[in-house]
This record gives sequence, structure tokens and C-alpha cells, in this order.
Amino acid sequence: MSNRRTFAIISHPDAGKTTLTEKLLLQGGAIHLAGEVKARGAARRARSDWMKIEQQRGISVTSSVMTFERAFDDLGSVTFNLLDTPGHEDFSEDTYRTLTAVDSAVMVIDAAKGIEPQTRKLFEVCRLRSVPIITFVNKVDREGRPVFELLDEIADMLALDVSPQMYPVGMGGEFAGILDFASGEVVVPEGPSREYHGKRVADFDLPEEIAENVELAQIGYPEFDLEAYRNGDLTPVYFGSALKNFGVTELIEAIARYAPPPRPQPAGEEQVTPDHDEVTGFIFKVQANMDPNHRDRIAFMRQVSGTFKRGMKLTPSGLGKPIAIHSPILFFAQDREIADTAEAGDIIGIPNHGTLRVGDTLSEKDKVRFTGLPNFAPEILRRVQLKDPTKTKQLRKALDDLSEEGVIQVFYPEIGANHIVGVVGQLQLDVLISRLSAEYKVEAALEASPFATARWIKGDDKALAEFESFNRANLARDRDGDLVFMAKSPWDVNYQVEKNPELTFSATKER
Ligand code: GDP
Repeated sequence: MSNRRTFAIISHPDAGKTTLTEKLLLQGGAIHLAGEVKARGAARRARSDWMKIEQQRGISVTSSVMTFERAFDDLGSVTFNLLDTPGHEDFSEDTYRTLTAVDSAVMVIDAAKGIEPQTRKLFEVCRLRSVPIITFVNKVDREGRPVFELLDEIADMLALDVSPQMYPVGMGGEFAGILDFASGEVVVPEGPSREYHGKRVADFDLPEEIAENVELAQIGYPEFDLEAYRNGDLTPVYFGSALKNFGVTELIEAIARYAPPPRPQPAGEEQVTPDHDEVTGFIFKVQANMDPNHRDRIAFMRQVSGTFKRGMKLTPSGLGKPIAIHSPILFFAQDREIADTAEAGDIIGIPNHGTLRVGDTLSEKDKVRFTGLPNFAPEILRRVQLKDPTKTKQLRKALDDLSEEGVIQVFYPEIGANHIVGVVGQLQLDVLISRLSAEYKVEAALEASPFATARWIKGDDKALAEFESFNRANLARDRDGDLVFMAKSPWDVNYQVEKNPELTFSATKER
């Protein structure tokens, strides 16, 4: 079985994702942080400038890949690929897409707050793809809500079976440790209070009231069932404190033991399994302009099958001719010996000049096309207003680039000169304006557009031509030149759907 575990952390802002990530990397031997890879000179400066924007905004705009390793007596060495999802309330397609590249997720919940809106949204995205979830109830070093209340809330709000694997012995000031059901031992805090280290105690005297609750937690909830977890129907629940580095070891161990190894990926009617004999993968993220002078970009490929070797030729879908991957960024590549290969489940950063786009499949034989990496219909549409009219060319280039990267979607109306940008969340618009200015020296503003949403239209040529002749004012082309109906309201969409049964109106577009 593969020793790769490729996962993401989903949480509401402030639940402790960053702190937990740090602790995971500390406990495992962290190998590379994506942002540090090959950033030299100008590239490094550009990157840190961009990170300044992120800091000013108090958000993390770019996702990255973090890899760490741990050895277990019985499992051997396990490699963990943690894909970071931007943790802002207002999430973007980037977040959705990152979740298409993982095999499982850890859901971090603040013990005092329970399920919050962002946790819930991200959970729903995971559910769409039956991504299995391990729950980590964080901040038990502080006063939190009663354990049963939290467990029941997870079960009710997410319609998911919960199976506690631990029980916190007190919370906040009363916090005395965590009883681990698997071993029957209590892990008690040890060492200076800022940074506990867990010590396992076999004959810990449980206070009577807690002993009763522990029994209730064990008999009142479903037992852990690997298959139910892997189907996304049950979540094992762990408790801990990321800040105090408590319960993190148990969490890592749970991911190693239970989280699924690389899963097969759908490609139309077929499934490509990790043991498929050629290298295949798909691009789930493109990060551009790490160096503004070179307009270089890194496409992040989730490897689905095969053993990748440096210098290998892969054919991107849609391009038709192979490209040689001479300088891949292999995030787990700690020592030079293994730096040249990657396995299913790994992420490979591929430097390129705009050839590779989100949703592309890469493969050796150019026979596979992965499906299920959609563009989502934008929910916010804005007209781009250029402050300096001589910069139309730069603007078009920038919008094309940024839409390739998946930051925004761009639509070019059939009538009129104003470009329209579409996003799933407000944050993307802020990112757009600041990147236009910082990276392309284009000052622009956004103004209201008459449109509320968009639908990709398909049909035979005759039907399309007829539709076009009547609806030109509401039609646009996307970056690929595909026809899009710009709707003023959901009602508008329904009306056209009913009126044009020979056409399909789609809210997502798969490349
Ligand atoms: P993120 O927004 O989910 O990435 O959350 P952060 O990791 O930045 O944490 C948000 C705040 O909660 C910070 O002030 C952390 O120090 C604090 N925090 C994180 N984990 C814990 C924990 O286990 N216990 C306590 N008391 N505070 C925590």
C-alpha cells in the first residue's frame, strides 16, 4: 500500500489551522515549504512583497504544499502531503479546487465555538466528493463547550456519524489530560506550560464524573469503522490543543493509520488507479508571478499514478504535444537521492510560461482526461473600468493570465468593449485589483454589471447560431472562446432554459 497521505485542513478562521499546521510540521520532519522552494534573488523579493500584501490583509491568499515524514514501528515511513487552503471566510474557487486534489481532510473545530459557517461550507465541498474527515477539536486548554454538546452538534449539523476516540479530562483551568480510548491511557501535560509534552499514564485516577462520561462517550456513539470513515459517513473525533502541542501526535498517528492512500481519480467513465502504469496527474492550481520580470508560473500537479522521473515528457490535455519536465519542484525532496522521483499522491510544481492551466490533465500517453475539476459559475460579476485607457492591452493580458491562474473568470461580451470579471467570492475581487496594480501596473476599478450569473451554453451549431442572433447583448466568450450566457437573474436563466430545450445551460464547465 502507498505510504502517501495527501490531505487538507478545513476550518473556520481562528480555529487554529495555522498553529496546528506548524505543530504537524514540527513533529514530522518538515521537508519543504512551498513558498521557500527555489525562490532566489528577485523572485524571493517579489514573493515577499506579495506576502506583505497577504499580511496586511491578514489573510493567506495563496495555497501551498507542505510535506513531512514520520516513521512508525508497524507502518514504516509515511509521507504526508498537506495542501493548505486559504483560510478566509470568503472563499474562492482556489479552495474548492485544492479540495479536489486531496484524499482526505482534517476538520479543526474550536472547542468553544463548535461548527462555524466556513467549516460547514468546506465540509459540504468535501461531502460532494465523499472526502473522509478526521475531526480535531482544538483549544481544550481553554474553557470550551461540553463535550457531548460538541459531538452532537457535529453529528446533527453535518449529518455525519461521530465516533470519539478520546475524552478530554477537564477543559480550561481544569484541564488534566486526554484519555485515549485506543490505549486506555491518559496523556497528561508535562513540561513548561507553554509547550506541554504528553506523557502517557496507565493508572491515572479518573474523577468519577469523568469516568461516567467516558463510558457514555464510548457506548453512546458509533464505534470507529474504517469503511464508514473512508466513505465519508463517519468521522473519528480527537481532542487537543494545537497551541500547547497536545494531541497532535495522536492526530498524526490517526492520519497515518486511517486516512486513505491515494484514491483513484475519475476520467470520464473510467477510474485511473495509482498503480496504473503511466504517469498521470491533473493541475489543480497555478501560481503566477513569483518573479514579475519573468512572468513565470508554477502549475501544481496532483500526481494520480505512476512514478514520475525528472526530465520525463508529459502531454498536457489540450496542447497535444508533450513537454519535458526538466525542473520540477518536488516538495518532498529532502535529500538529493530521492529528489528526482515522485509517486501517486505527491504534488509536483511545474514551472511554465502559461502553457499549463487549472483543470489540465498531464499524462505520458495522452489518453487519459480527468473529469470533475469544474469552473464554477460566478456569483459576482463586475465590469472592469480602466483608469488609464491606453492600457487596454496590458489589462487584457492581465485578465487572461489571472483567469488562467483561476483567480477570476473573465468574460468578453460580444457587444461592447468592457471586460467582465466573475468570481465566486468578494475576496477574489480585492485580490484582482491589488494584483493588477502590483504586478501589471494597471490601475482599474470595478463597477456594477447588469448580470447576476453566467451559464455555459452548448448545443448544435444551428441552435447556437439562432440563440446567438436573438441574444447577442447577453452573450460573451470566456477565456477559451466558449459561449457564455450572461443572465440578469436566476429567473432569466430558467426562462432561457425552458425556451431553448435544444441547448444546455451549465453552471459549471469542465475543461
Ligand atoms: P487559523 O486562523 O485557523 O489559522 O488560526 P490560528 O492558528 O492563527 O489561531 C488563531 C488564534 O487561536 C491564535 O491566537 C492562536 O494562538 C490561538 N490558538 C490556536 N490553537 C490554540 C489552542 O490550542 N489553544 C489556545 N488557547 N489558543 C489557540
